[in-house]
Amino acid sequence: MMKPIQEIFPLLNQPRQIVITMHQKPDADAMGSTLALKHFLVQLGHSVTVISPTNWAGWVNWLPGVKEVMDYEKDKQKAESFLNKADWLFCLDFNIFHRTKGLTERLKQLTCTKILIDHHQEPDVASFDYGVSDTAKSSTCEMVYDFIVDSGHADKINTEIGECIYAGVIGDTGSFRFASAHAGVHTLVANLKSRGLNHGLVHENLFDNFLENRLRFIGHILLNRLEVFYEYNTALISIPKSDLLKYQIKTGDTEGLVNYPQSIQGIKLVALVIDRDEERKWSFRSKGEFDCNTFARKYFEGGGHFNASGGRSSDSLEKTVEHFKQAMKENEKLLQ
Ligand code: 5GP
Ligand code: MN
Repeated sequence: MMKPIQEIFPLLNQPRQIVITMHQKPDADAMGSTLALKHFLVQLGHSVTVISPTNWAGWVNWLPGVKEVMDYEKDKQKAESFLNKADWLFCLDFNIFHRTKGLTERLKQLTCTKILIDHHQEPDVASFDYGVSDTAKSSTCEMVYDFIVDSGHADKINTEIGECIYAGVIGDTGSFRFASAHAGVHTLVANLKSRGLNHGLVHENLFDNFLENRLRFIGHILLNRLEVFYEYNTALISIPKSDLLKYQIKTGDTEGLVNYPQSIQGIKLVALVIDRDEERKWSFRSKGEFDCNTFARKYFEGGGHFNASGGRSSDSLEKTVEHFKQAMKENEKLLQ
């Protein structure tokens, strides 16, 4: 059973071979938290490798240290050699191995010490030796910050760590707008600022760093692929494969699209589905009391958080959209 993370604090002083991994298609929180932890552990004398299960969006490519991150699908052999000699495996920003795609079975079989740091619901605690799982935390980046401070190493927080942590915090709190941006998050940012964080630069790198095609794509989607169901306070965006091809959309270009319909007065639930090669991938966002985690689990083999979740379907785009509309109608009372 998973022991409290504090129990590894006394063990941090002995140098080890460490691998850090995160969920597939890492976002700013996943990539930011793993890199912040790496920059910290390296200062303590550990040998640290970050392995991503898959590739990632271009807009996290500026994060300090991202160039050394291995893509398991691309650098499998090299990644394997680090997994083989790892003493410790840190798992960040996910809590069930199947969120790591091709790495899933490999991570299950590893016999080294496994440590969890995560803020998603319903963790598989039996799979970890040590860890912390806290859904009240804004982001895994906030938890890495706590890890550094609580282990007595606040002095190790430098600009690199600050940028990584700040990126994940603004990513997962929707730039401080979600309820998860509690008072402690603002105190954390104040502390990073007093250590020299240039927060404007992080915003620019995350939000002003796209190509023209993405902006035109968003225009097309909002004009032609958005449906609003006022009687259910729900908005739906469904994106066929042909749109992705026409606008040359890459991993990460669709990030944030699900937030746009939330600007319509009264909207409580936004659903977005993208026709990916292997599956139809859903994203859900809600305001107030509608529970996206339960909704994704019940209808779309997914999960996540109360106000933000995701899921999937093997049905065709048309069929899964029909399934969604049915689910929306079944949830009429909760959406009023
Ligand atoms: P996004 O819509 O940004 O892909 O995901 C929103 C949230 O839901 C994230 O915290 C993500 O980790 C979680 N999530 C997305 N897809 C899935 C899924 O298929 N299963 C589970 N358990 N969580 C998911
Ligand atoms: Mn996260």
